[in-house]
Amino acid sequence: MNYLYETHLHTSQTSVCGESRGRDYIQAYKDQGYAGIIVTDHFYKGNCAVSRNLPWREWVNQFCRGFEDARNEGARRGLDVFFGWEETFDGDDYLIYGLDREWLLEHPESARWSRKDQYRAVQQAGGCVVQAHPFRQHYYIHQISLAPALVDAVEAANAGNHEQSYDALAMRYAKKLKIPVTAGSDIHEVSQLEAGYIFGVYLDKKMAAITDYVAAIKGNAIVGLKTSPGRCDSRGNERVSLPVEILNPEGRDTGEDLWDFLVI
Ligand SMILES: [Zn+2]
Ligand SMILES: [Zn+2]
Repeated sequence: MNYLYETHLHTSQTSVCGESRGRDYIQAYKDQGYAGIIVTDHFYKGNCAVSRNLPWREWVNQFCRGFEDARNEGARRGLDVFFGWEETFDGDDYLIYGLDREWLLEHPESARWSRKDQYRAVQQAGGCVVQAHPFRQHYYIHQISLAPALVDAVEAANAGNHEQSYDALAMRYAKKLKIPVTAGSDIHEVSQLEAGYIFGVYLDKKMAAITDYVAAIKGNAIVGLKTSPGRCDSRGNERVSLPVEILNPEGRDTGEDLWDFLVI
């Protein structure tokens, strides 16, 4: 038996762009047959709704509000809810899994991480880093930044991407790197779910804790992706119209031909 999980979700309590409260998602995900969801609100450098003027402890407490609202409702209705977050750098975004509120309270420096700091610290703490929608090309993104040595996996399918080709490119990129792929909805409001436009990952075991998701990624044990048909398929017409920067490629054996994946 497989279990379906949402891996990329925003709440209105914690993400400026979130339209629905944590609790609002619960019944709808249950109805769609999900075993659980991971709340990944925008973190410190991203579109976070929490004031950066707050002392760290208070910032962390408020950052967790959307998650806690979802978790409490999930406990009432029987849907597992896990914690993560999404940090942004220069238009490139990363989903962080495996760390929790208590860890954050002890690590105020996480607000100022570079990509390298992020990868090192998250590994050290037993978590994982997944680059979200690496090939999204949208008005607020001026270049595509790839950090192949600083991620454990790539989000190949993102239901928030406007173009299927972005996901096809992400899949090709992950295959080139030979690293695991994930899928997520990047959902900001429950109506997206009611419209059935939601993605996710299948695991063959029920998650007891977020560390089970980390283990699934690191062990390449995600058994399937829920996407729309053909979502990650290359059609031969994928285009990258933005400059591409490959950051810190050292450390992973990508060879010198990493650029090949962009060539149709
Ligand atoms: Zn957002
Ligand atoms: Zn997101």
